[in-house]
Amino acid sequence: MEGQDGQGFGAGALSTSQPPIETDALVIGAGPVGLFQVFQLGLLEISCHVVDALPFAGGQCVQLYGDKPNYDIPGTPVTTGSGLVESLLRQVEPFAPQFHFGQQVATMERQGDGRLLLGTSRGTTFLARTVFIAAGVGAFLPKHIAVPGIETFEGTRLFYHPESLARFAGQTVVVHGGDDEALEAALALLDHAKAVALLHRRDAFQAEEETVARVRDRIAAGALRLVIGQPQAFDGSTLEVCTPDERTVSLALDAWLAYPGISPRLGPIADWGLQLARKQVPVDTEKYETCERGVFAVGDINSYPGKKKLIVCGFHEATLAAWAATAIVFPDKAIPLQYTTTSTRLHELLGVKH
Ligand SMILES: Cc1cc2nc3c(=O)[nH]c(=O)nc-3n(C[C@H](O)[C@H](O)[C@H](O)COP(=O)(O)OP(=O)(O)OC[C@H]3O[C@@H](n4cnc5c(N)ncnc54)[C@H](O)[C@@H]3O)c2cc1C
Repeated sequence: MEGQDGQGFGAGALSTSQPPIETDALVIGAGPVGLFQVFQLGLLEISCHVVDALPFAGGQCVQLYGDKPNYDIPGTPVTTGSGLVESLLRQVEPFAPQFHFGQQVATMERQGDGRLLLGTSRGTTFLARTVFIAAGVGAFLPKHIAVPGIETFEGTRLFYHPESLARFAGQTVVVHGGDDEALEAALALLDHAKAVALLHRRDAFQAEEETVARVRDRIAAGALRLVIGQPQAFDGSTLEVCTPDERTVSLALDAWLAYPGISPRLGPIADWGLQLARKQVPVDTEKYETCERGVFAVGDINSYPGKKKLIVCGFHEATLAAWAATAIVFPDKAIPLQYTTTSTRLHELLGVKH
């Protein structure tokens, strides 16, 4: 996919050293509805950038049910969460949207000229004429471990859900967690790290049977050290773990790789001055616009009488919101409705050859 930046989960402080990226539209959230929003904006020749807190596109479809079948996408008798997202990504390709992954949109402020200035957790800023909040149930961010003072080691000694394991080659590593992601990381590191310990709160894992069997095998062979307990203190080089029988085990390490899981958080959207009703953003059902002009909300994040949190409803909302945005992006132009079947202009935009 063209135009991607960002990696891992955004955690840095806001800094605005670069000038803001100017854009017709900023889409917050690359879930299924955010992706279809990009498509509808593209058909209307509205350029856009897309930001997501996750390091990849797909929202709930990929994060929560990537391999599971889905039977209610129009014209698609069956697909999976990941399959749907792959199709949506292919569909938006002609419009070359710029993706900014691994960062959370943190701030939104109206400027004197009517545009909106938005800033992310990685310091990227945007000056947008319109904003589409497609934030679903909130930003998917890693849960944090409750050990006092450990935040100072984030990114140097403590790594939440690291995207790449390459940097840990030759190091003494503690992999902390009991799901597939943690177990796969521990197994992968056995070939490259100096020593690997697997830390989990109990002697049972929530992972595929086959993965658990491979881990048990490596533990039995003495290649992987298993430590059962809860972390209680960390000074950057020694992790103290309290075992179920209340002993303290000290683990010397170069890197603590933590896999506590991901959970959605509404986060900063609550501070943008929008009305909120039960953590949703109320919109009208003509434009799917919030109480702020030019700020639309589509998909699971919005609310209106009769709202259903279904992908197909989000697709409809995104279509009408894109049309409503034309009045702001092209105030002096009447935009005719064109069919993708017959319009030569739409074929040009889609790169379709006859
Ligand atoms: C198990 C399960 C099965 C389902 N099955 C079906 C089904 O069969 N049919 C159906 O129609 N629906 C189904 N759904 C519901 C469907 O997945 C949701 O309706 C859909 O994902 C909503 O899409 P969305 O794009 O609005 O939000 P999401 O998919 O939640 O995506 C929102 C994205 O926004 C990002 N985000 C949020 N806040 C920020 C921020 N401040 N900055 C940056 N990024 C941010 C998040 O990280 C996320 O990636 C299912 C849901 C679940 C949990």
